[in-house]
Amino acid sequence: MKRVLLLGGTGEARALATALERSTDIQVVSSLAGRVRDPLLPIGDVRVGGFGGAEGLAKWLGDHSVDGIVDATHPFAAQITRNALEAAARVEVPIVVLRRPGWSRMGRQDWSTVRDVDAAAALLPELGTRAFLTIGRQSVHSFAAVRTMWFLVRAIDPPEGPMPPHSQLILARGPFSVAEEAALMRRHRIDVLVTKDSGGAGTAAKLDAAAELGIPVLVVRRPPLPSGASTVADVEEAILWIESEI
Ligand code: NAP
Repeated sequence: MKRVLLLGGTGEARALATALERSTDIQVVSSLAGRVRDPLLPIGDVRVGGFGGAEGLAKWLGDHSVDGIVDATHPFAAQITRNALEAAARVEVPIVVLRRPGWSRMGRQDWSTVRDVDAAAALLPELGTRAFLTIGRQSVHSFAAVRTMWFLVRAIDPPEGPMPPHSQLILARGPFSVAEEAALMRRHRIDVLVTKDSGGAGTAAKLDAAAELGIPVLVVRRPPLPSGASTVADVEEAILWIESEI
């Protein structure tokens, strides 16, 4: 029996855990950071909480006789990916990073990209006056100094730190339909959408809704992957990697 550590917190990680549940030669332990109050739990064994940096993770891998790692964390969870690559190298365990493709403009007219959330906050007042902010709860505080705009902030759990002074918070978890997203944006008279380039179908409806309404989109680009990381793009490729590399 081979033991796989599956670093999760994404739909792909849950789908991979489900796909491997009945395997007779792969045993999966899924790992969650424990940030979300009411997480969607994967099927099978789950552990929750940080490992204590790359060093703690390397120790955990040894203590639990892990044979391989699939890092299926969110594309913006850069720290855990760095730690996993470093820990895997230290204890010489194979690792692959499952990264869903990012969104592309796909004919959408008005699409700007910036390198990080702070750059988004700096550029935003040039693009509109009523923003729909869908960047997760961790970086909302970067927009707290934008006093000239109104924000509709959507997150699964309440944001950390200060909110923009003129804002309304919606706590909700997708997926949302294009019709729902368009109705929400119309209701709040949104004139610019801000998103991270998370990729995936589950939260893409807002992009189609914005295109339908002619609303410009400001996209925060992904943090780069450390050089040399092996990657796969979906669950099927991850299973092939596990079968061939572990
Ligand atoms: P991060 O900044 O890359 O990681 C910060 C620390 O959280 C890591 O050093 C690690 O602590 C712990 N951690 C992160 N993911 C973990 C996991 N799967 N299992 C155990 N420990 C983990 O991560 P983040 O951006 O805060 O994201 C946290 C989790 O939420 C990730 O699992 C990610 O897949 C999920 N998520 C993130 C986003 C996003 O936009 N960032 C969106 C959706 C879901 P130690 O150093 O103590 O080990």
